[in-house]
Amino acid sequence: MKLNEKKEIKIQNLTKFYILVLLKSNKEVTGYYILKKLDEDLNKTASPTYVYGFLKSLKSERYIEDVPILKSKRKKGYRLTSLGKSFVDRIFIRFNNLIEVAIQSKLAICASCGVKLYENYHNEITNKKEMNFCCKHCAKAYKDSYNSN
Ligand SMILES: [Zn+2]
Repeated sequence: MKLNEKKEIKIQNLTKFYILVLLKSNKEVTGYYILKKLDEDLNKTASPTYVYGFLKSLKSERYIEDVPILKSKRKKGYRLTSLGKSFVDRIFIRFNNLIEVAIQSKLAICASCGVKLYENYHNEITNKKEMNFCCKHCAKAYKDSYNSN
């Protein structure tokens, strides 16, 4: 761990996150490819200014480097440096943790009384949906109220 580490680039939206995914899953990418994939995969029309601005900030941190694309002299590609790879891995782990928290918080509440569920909760199929309850009594109460409606 470095002592005076400066603030890391913030990845606060899906567009930036997906650009990192593209950088990680391809040997090299062009700005054009990124714009095309954002549109195709996420239905997002990102502005070239935004995408190139983000690439520029990655480059100034030495997370990516230019790769000349031979087919066209005017085109430039980018690839992750080893510094960039570990940055992307850190971001992915952070997102993975966030997603796990989001999924768990969805599951871990009694559908009847709303109490938080930790481990030994009661799981039942109610009205074809798998639901979580704190106990059998809550499951019954929930079913009773559902059926009386
Ligand atoms: Zn309950």
